[in-house]
Amino acid sequence: MIRRSRLAALVGLDVFLALVPLAIALAPARPAGRGFWIELSLAVGFAGLGQTALQFGLIARFARLSRPLGIDLVMRLHRQLGLVAALLAVAHLLLLAVARPATLRLLDPTAGDAASRTGVFALVALVLLLALSYGRRALRLGYEAWRVSHALLGIAAVALTLAHVLLAGRYLAAPWKQAALVAWCLALVGLVLFLRLVKPALLARRPWRVAEVRPEAAETWSLSLEPEGHPGMRFAPGQFAWLKVDRSPWSVREHPFSFSSSAERPGRLEMGIKELGDFTRTVGRLAPGTRAYLDGPHGSFSIDLQPAPGYLFIAGGIGVSPVLSMLRTLADRGDRRPHALLYACSRWDRVAYREEIEELAERLDLEVVLVLEEPPEGWAGPRGYLNREVVEPRLVAANGAARDVFLCGPLAMMTALEEILIDECGVAEERVHGERFQMV
Ligand SMILES: Cc1cc2nc3c(=O)[nH]c(=O)nc-3n(C[C@H](O)[C@H](O)[C@H](O)COP(=O)(O)OP(=O)(O)OC[C@H]3O[C@@H](n4cnc5c(N)ncnc54)[C@H](O)[C@@H]3O)c2cc1C
Repeated sequence: MIRRSRLAALVGLDVFLALVPLAIALAPARPAGRGFWIELSLAVGFAGLGQTALQFGLIARFARLSRPLGIDLVMRLHRQLGLVAALLAVAHLLLLAVARPATLRLLDPTAGDAASRTGVFALVALVLLLALSYGRRALRLGYEAWRVSHALLGIAAVALTLAHVLLAGRYLAAPWKQAALVAWCLALVGLVLFLRLVKPALLARRPWRVAEVRPEAAETWSLSLEPEGHPGMRFAPGQFAWLKVDRSPWSVREHPFSFSSSAERPGRLEMGIKELGDFTRTVGRLAPGTRAYLDGPHGSFSIDLQPAPGYLFIAGGIGVSPVLSMLRTLADRGDRRPHALLYACSRWDRVAYREEIEELAERLDLEVVLVLEEPPEGWAGPRGYLNREVVEPRLVAANGAARDVFLCGPLAMMTALEEILIDECGVAEERVHGERFQMV
């Protein structure tokens, strides 16, 4: 669950860092002011540049950032702060137009000088970037094509804005100011260039190969990977990695999947994969021996990061995958704490890892409640969606001690259950941890 104080700290840090270009511009020697609206417009423009460049830091997959907040929240923050950056750029133009209406004439790229032209092109890049992000599905743009266009437009927006402020020159006449601003922007954009160019070279030195692909349930597969020439990957149970299969480590085609295997067995990793789209529908056909690369581990959805007297796991569909990793790990560690698993599936043939979960219930102190939306004839267990009746008080607390709750499944299910747990069952917000399988 969202840690509000950490989120507030990150937003505070973001605002502080976004003001760095403005601080550089305002450092001595400063030119004489030209009236309130123009000065305000310039301040907003510099903040817009700062916020645009900072987006590269947000998406650079820093564990220190994603661990306390969760990767989905970092990506949501990126969407919102990216929008703020574009709004600041538009506000910069509007404020200039208020102060000097003739400025609007410069929107015609043939009318102005190089400084105004680069400013207009930067704005166009930002607007295009937003249009493609919000309209991706409507435009039927594939995820990979969108990611490439997103990165290129983002780099173009920063480079053009930087050129715009350097050419406009007024506040950045001193060479040290120019150097400082260029260095600041390059450092942030460089993070993503590192992620896309240098990190794959490191991944290439730690390849994996497909050891086995096993059907687990209808349209659900277990993918096993073994390291080639290295000892494997240490991870906390419940974390995930970006997977590239049968492609170069520099390929943009990569997909995030949670580990389903035990963290105590880093020499053979497993991922539970549900067929949902172009890539996941091909997993069942992957041949043993196929080369793979893993960028990970990432994420904060793990019992190892949240010590508690016991856990309630709630999984919907393939959301069981990271939960299985935690249960397998607990069993390998000989854990004796009392745990419970609420597992919801649409149909009996969609219940992945059924037999193994029964075995885990015997190895652990684990109560399992299976909920089916469309149960078979004679089904005696709970049916329908996971709701208030299913989340019984004995599952939320064991022996009087509150359990930490780990929740993973479809977005609607997660939102509904977070409300039930916090508002109706009285579980403290910081005890509810969720992993969303969508980077909205
Ligand atoms: C942190 C995390 C952990 C996940 N763990 C699992 C898991 O254990 N098992 C499982 O079956 N699924 C998991 N997913 C979901 C899985 O990543 C997507 O189902 C998969 O990437 C879809 O790819 P596709 O080409 O088959 O489908 P597509 O039809 O191409 O994509 C369907 C949707 O999936 C999302 N998506 C596609 N590619 C990516 C990508 N490279 N990065 C981020 N999102 C993408 C997009 O929203 C897209 O619209 C996880 C997702 C996240 C964010």
